[in-house]
Amino acid sequence: MTIVIGFEGSANKIGVGIIKDGLVLSNPRRTYITPPGQGFLPRDTAKHHQACVLDVTSEALEQACIKPEEIDCVAYTKGPGMGAPLVCVAIVARTLSQLWNKPLLGVNHCIGHIEMGRLITGATNPTVLYVSGGNTQVISYSERRYRIFGETIDIAVGNCLDRFARVLKEAAHRILAAGDCTPEDLCFSLQETLFAMLVETTERAMAHCGSEEVLIVGGVGCNLRLQKMMAVMCEERDAKLFATDERFCIDNGAMIAQAGWEMFRAGHVTALQDSWITQRYRTDEVEVTWRD
Ligand code: MG
Repeated sequence: MTIVIGFEGSANKIGVGIIKDGLVLSNPRRTYITPPGQGFLPRDTAKHHQACVLDVTSEALEQACIKPEEIDCVAYTKGPGMGAPLVCVAIVARTLSQLWNKPLLGVNHCIGHIEMGRLITGATNPTVLYVSGGNTQVISYSERRYRIFGETIDIAVGNCLDRFARVLKEAAHRILAAGDCTPEDLCFSLQETLFAMLVETTERAMAHCGSEEVLIVGGVGCNLRLQKMMAVMCEERDAKLFATDERFCIDNGAMIAQAGWEMFRAGHVTALQDSWITQRYRTDEVEVTWRD
């Protein structure tokens, strides 16, 4: 029996989850919510996480009915993500690992999404579309790496949709004066174009790898229109589509605990002096020693 506690705080959610051999014992989280039309800034987000993290940790332990001495490993998000929020959560994980005298493990956030999706849906070897406010990647497993088949480097799809809405608000009169389309037309058109691009890239990766499963993860992965478009492609290829709901699709602590569980069982640990964070941490940097 292996019990892992996971700490996630790379963006505007602070989450703590506890996993015991494939069972989610608890997974509370808090979201830093800014006024409509405003994005979240790293410093303010870190302050929010700092204010909440100990409450969320107590909640996770209470809900799971687990005492610190029963925990085998403390996992935290090493990156990618926003610097200040990542640092805040890493400090808490580092401190607790020393207080409780438990090994520490830095986890790649994207791999957390993949491993949680595999656990929840039962997909064994899916081509993964990870699409959120901060990340957009098409990933497939091959020879001990989660390999990236397509990604956006300048802006993630979720951020693009949000930012477009903000720009539209400021520029709406000019755009509307220039043509006969409504803001709704423009939003729909952008969404259809972006999602079609994601589905096409996923299909290309599937064809390349001979994959018959698709797993959608990340916050934008909750979008039902995206899931519908992906389902049509999968049906045409005789492939199976897997998606999760908001509890596990959106950033959460259990996903870090689950990836940590796999890694810890395969012998990974992070020495205290190596327990830093990094804003850029590619999915394919990690050797996936826990899969064949
Ligand atoms: Mg994420």
